[in-house]
Amino acid sequence: MINNASYAAELDQNDSLAKYRERFNIPVINGQEQKYFLGNSLGLQPVNTTQHIQQILSQWSDFGVEAFFEGPSPWLTLHDKLPSMLSDITGSGIHEITIMNQLTVNLHLMMVSFYQPRGKKIKILCEEHAFPSDQYMLQSHVEYLGYDPSEVILEIRPKSGSYVLEENDILDAIETHHGELAMILLPGVQYYTGQIFNMKSITAKAHEFGIICGFDLAHAVGNIPLSLHDWDIDFACWCSYKYLNGGPGTIGGVFIHEKFHDTENIQRFEGWWGNENNTRFLMEKKFRPEKNANAWQLSTPSPILYACLNASLSIFNEAGWNNILTKQKKMNAFHWQQIDEFKSKDEKNIIQIITPRHEHGCQISIFVNENGKNIHENLKRNGFITDWREPNVIRLAPVPLYNRYSEIYHFYQQLGELIHPS
Ligand SMILES: *Cc1c(COP(=O)(O)O)cnc(C)c1O
Repeated sequence: MINNASYAAELDQNDSLAKYRERFNIPVINGQEQKYFLGNSLGLQPVNTTQHIQQILSQWSDFGVEAFFEGPSPWLTLHDKLPSMLSDITGSGIHEITIMNQLTVNLHLMMVSFYQPRGKKIKILCEEHAFPSDQYMLQSHVEYLGYDPSEVILEIRPKSGSYVLEENDILDAIETHHGELAMILLPGVQYYTGQIFNMKSITAKAHEFGIICGFDLAHAVGNIPLSLHDWDIDFACWCSYKYLNGGPGTIGGVFIHEKFHDTENIQRFEGWWGNENNTRFLMEKKFRPEKNANAWQLSTPSPILYACLNASLSIFNEAGWNNILTKQKKMNAFHWQQIDEFKSKDEKNIIQIITPRHEHGCQISIFVNENGKNIHENLKRNGFITDWREPNVIRLAPVPLYNRYSEIYHFYQQLGELIHPS
C-alpha cells in the first residue's frame, strides 16, 4: 500500500503551481495556518489586492475624474481589460462579456431581455433546490410581470433518494413541457452537491424548441472549463467572489451571446454606461447602445472593484487556465483516493459522498449521517475551514491556486479521527 502522507508531500513537491499559494493571504488563527477549503464560498485574498486598490486611490487623488482617461492605468482601460482576462476562463468572445453589478441584480436584468412569455409559452424551467437568491429573483420577477409563480415556475427535482438531477431527466422535462416553456435557468454547477450540469446538451435541447437557455455560473466560473460561445448559451451570470477571488461583494460578470448584440428589438433596461463609449459623454437624448455585451451596463462601475478583480485575474492569467484545470484533475484523482480509502474503513456508512464522481469541479459534498454538525465544529477547531449546510452536509472545495494535496490528505485523517476514533 502506498504511504499517503509521503505521496501527498511528493505531489506537492512536484506541483508546478505550488508557488502561487504564496500569492494569497492564508488565514492564520492562534498562530496556526488554516486549511482553507472554502474557495467555493469566498475565495482567499490575493496579496496584491491591496496594491491594486491603492493604485486606484492614488489615481483618484492625482487626477480626480480625469483618472478615467489618464494616469498609469486609466480606469476605462481597466474596463476593457477585464473581459479579455475572462475570455479563456469562460470560453467567450471578449465582446460577449461585460463586468457589472452583482449576480442577483444581473439575473433580474437578464430576465428583462430574455424572459419573453408569449401565448402558451410562459413557463420557466428551473431546479427545485436552486440557490435561494435565484428562487427569490424568479418569484419576484414573474410576480412583478403579473404572473402567479406557482403557475409559471416549473421546478424539476432529483429522483427520490437521490441528490443529483440526471441529465436525461432534464432533457425529458424539456421535451415534455416544451410547448409551455419560454426559458430555462439552471446552474452550471449546483451549489449544494457540486454537480456539473451538461450545459451544452441542455442548451441544444432547449434550442430545438426555440426556448431561451441561461445559466447561473456562480459555482462554475473559475472552477470548471466553459465554452459559453460554442455551446451557444444565450446568457449567463456569475459573481466574482467565489472561485474568482475578487473579494466580498465584488463586481459580477455577464455573458450575452453575440447573436443578441445587434438586434434592435431586444428589451433591455438601459443606462448611460451602456451607451457607446465615444458618444457617452456627449450627453445626447438618444441612447446609442454599444454593439456588444456592454450595452447592458447601466451605471458607473467602481474602479476599486475592478481593481480587486484585476488583482486576482492576473494570477489566473499568469498561472494559465489550462494548467489550473490540469492540477484540478490531479487533485480530484488524489481526493477520490482518499475518499475511497476512508470509505473502506467506514463500516457503519457514516459518510456518503453526494457529489457525482465524474461530474464535478473542485467541490465535494459529504453527507454525514451522525453528529454532522459536531464533526464540522471539531474540524474547525482543528484548523480545517469547510462549510456546513443543513441538514447534514459538509462541503469542501480545495482549489488549485492555493490548496495543497497534503491538506486534503490531512482532512481525511482528521475526519477519520473524529468519526472512527481508535
Ligand atoms: C453565491 C450565489 C449567489 C449569490 O448572489 P449575489 O447576488 O452575489 O449575492 C446567487 N446564486 C447562486 C447560485 C450562488 O451560488
